[in-house]
Amino acid sequence: MSGKLGVPNYGPMERIVVALAGNPNSGKSSLFNLLTGARQHVANYPGVTVEKKQGVCRYQDHEIVVVDLPGTYSLTAYSMEELVARRFVLEDKPDVVVDVVDASNVERNLYLGTQLIEMAPPLVFAFNMADLAKRRGLVFDLEQLSRLLETRIVPTVASKGEGRAALLEAILRTAQEGRKARIHTVQYGDEIEEQITRIEGVVREWEKGLAERYGSRWLAVKLLEQDEEILAQVGRPEVLDVVDKSVRHLRGLFRDEPEIVMADRRYGFISGACQETIKNSVERRHDASDTIDAVVTNRVLGLPIFLLLMYAVFWATFALGEYPMKGLEWLFGWLTAAVSGLWPVGSESWLRSLLVDGVIAGVGGVVVFLPNILLLFLAIALLEDTGYMARAAFVMDRLMYKIGLHGKSFIPMLIGFGCSVPAIMATRILENRRNRLTTILVIPLMSCGARLTIYSLLIPAFFALHWRGPVMWSIYLIGILLAVICAKLLRVTIFQGETMPFVMELPPYRVPTPRSVLIHMWQRGWMFLKKAGTVILGISIVLWVLASFPKPDARDLAGLDETQARQVAMSHSVMGRVGHLIEPAIQPLGFDWKIGTALIGSLAAKEVFVSQLSIVYAVHSQDSSDVLSAKLRASYTPLVGFCILLFCLISAPCVATLAITRQEAGSWRWAAFQFLGLTALAYGVTLVVFQLGRIWL
Ligand code: GDP
Ligand code: MG
Repeated sequence: MSGKLGVPNYGPMERIVVALAGNPNSGKSSLFNLLTGARQHVANYPGVTVEKKQGVCRYQDHEIVVVDLPGTYSLTAYSMEELVARRFVLEDKPDVVVDVVDASNVERNLYLGTQLIEMAPPLVFAFNMADLAKRRGLVFDLEQLSRLLETRIVPTVASKGEGRAALLEAILRTAQEGRKARIHTVQYGDEIEEQITRIEGVVREWEKGLAERYGSRWLAVKLLEQDEEILAQVGRPEVLDVVDKSVRHLRGLFRDEPEIVMADRRYGFISGACQETIKNSVERRHDASDTIDAVVTNRVLGLPIFLLLMYAVFWATFALGEYPMKGLEWLFGWLTAAVSGLWPVGSESWLRSLLVDGVIAGVGGVVVFLPNILLLFLAIALLEDTGYMARAAFVMDRLMYKIGLHGKSFIPMLIGFGCSVPAIMATRILENRRNRLTTILVIPLMSCGARLTIYSLLIPAFFALHWRGPVMWSIYLIGILLAVICAKLLRVTIFQGETMPFVMELPPYRVPTPRSVLIHMWQRGWMFLKKAGTVILGISIVLWVLASFPKPDARDLAGLDETQARQVAMSHSVMGRVGHLIEPAIQPLGFDWKIGTALIGSLAAKEVFVSQLSIVYAVHSQDSSDVLSAKLRASYTPLVGFCILLFCLISAPCVATLAITRQEAGSWRWAAFQFLGLTALAYGVTLVVFQLGRIWL
């Protein structure tokens, strides 16, 4: 029977459900859009917060329902995404599964492919990014590969809309053929195959239901791999007993987990199949990548290379950033003078004070960091786009895994030593939300650049020369230690859940395109500017009001010079009063109202602590910092000095950090949690140190 246009008609099937599987970034979403014209319905998979995208298209009188599965590298039971994808294929039994393969990276993508083959659904491979593969000089013998994989292969270029008709055609044909009876594509070698056959026998006997639902071979493979989800479904001790014996037998034979040996066999199969059917007519890029990787992910050399590169990035950020930063400082200086000049000399105007001391000083103090931030993001974009970042994460993973974080978390934490704001933005490289939130929450414990201004004032003021280095070092170290402890605590309490064993995908090295690098950099920089323009502007005005009103009587100021007048005004203002108000609360830490006032000011930006102190201590702005140091030394003991350092390190992050936390975590609740948690931690730690110090010193 023939269809309208002479195309064969595949029978009465009306509605075909197609599931799109594939590695992240293989072009799944693009292909989804190509098939469905982006008409989609988004919901969650039942019971989990993994997004389920669904769309419909018509093809030759068939209604084709396309479901976009979560992007995964594998189909183990280790992550929610993998479980969701696997369950959909097994339980919902779509009519066809399309595995979207990045054709420029077939070997890595086919790991998922072989696992799908083993599940034996009606399967089609879409070799997407065929354009990229061609440009790389890859030549495929698709006919042969299709035979080896026992599966149809259709080349597509989803981003340019090529291959739609051929793919739909293949989907129809495959849907009509239905499930394959037996799949023996990947062979695991005599010893393992023997155990598979043995287990297949017992499951067919004792677990008929499961064997019918999943296929006995797949079931046996998963049981040998000790897959938790599948093991949990097997009730018969007869089966578990045989599985246990088989696993122990293989473990003894290979001196390794069967799961690992089997993964190796799959890789071996893929590697062999690719070698036979894919030729590289240009250079051996893959080999070049491997050679570089042998060095940069080396057990011994990996870490030093990474640290050196990071050092270079920070050095470049601050060294090169200094010139444009000077320019911006000059610009804001000029703006200050220009705005001040609008009023006659010596006249008092609240509007001038608001503009100069509030708006320009507040926003300017943050915007001057823009060059640093742009440079830092440029460097990160470069490292990401070349493919090095994945290696860095790989190198750091063994350490980070111990505190329950992903290797990639290390990068934002490192950036945190510069500034928490870009650091928190950089957590976007983390895909797992729990990981990301944990990292965001502890980032402020990394001593940022603004805190350095506090350290450089207080440490020389209270400590003799030979103590300064160790004190500074200990402050940084305490921050790191607390971050590690907090991260671990968060991971075992509110962010409990799977810490995935790290399946590291090492993409081949690439020469980054200037366009994508610049766009990356600019997008992040623009977000930062928007923040300065809105939140920081607002907060600066609020703080200015708090520090300026109510004004003292003119009588109280009579006979005082300008600096003394500012001191009296500060003490009289809301901020000064709040400082007095909280004095009883901070006295157990060794602090008085003056420090309290400065701490409140430091909420706006940590460096404000220093300028606030110079106001409450009536130090002329043109005096050198030695004057302030001397006054501090006369007022407090070194123990109090150390406690101030501690408190500034740990306590409430600045407003910009809180605002960015809200934005990136998606709710004020997380910002509030961060604020309260860190402040409480600071209070606790400082209290213990001060009280113990008082007894012992
Ligand atoms: P997903 O993570 O699998 O959903 O992948 P996306 O559909 O988001 O695609 C990732 C990137 O690859 C996007 O920038 C796409 O524009 C691009 N892309 C998708 N398909 C192709 C293709 O066939 N060729 C090329 N050159 N790029 C593609
Ligand atoms: Mg996608």
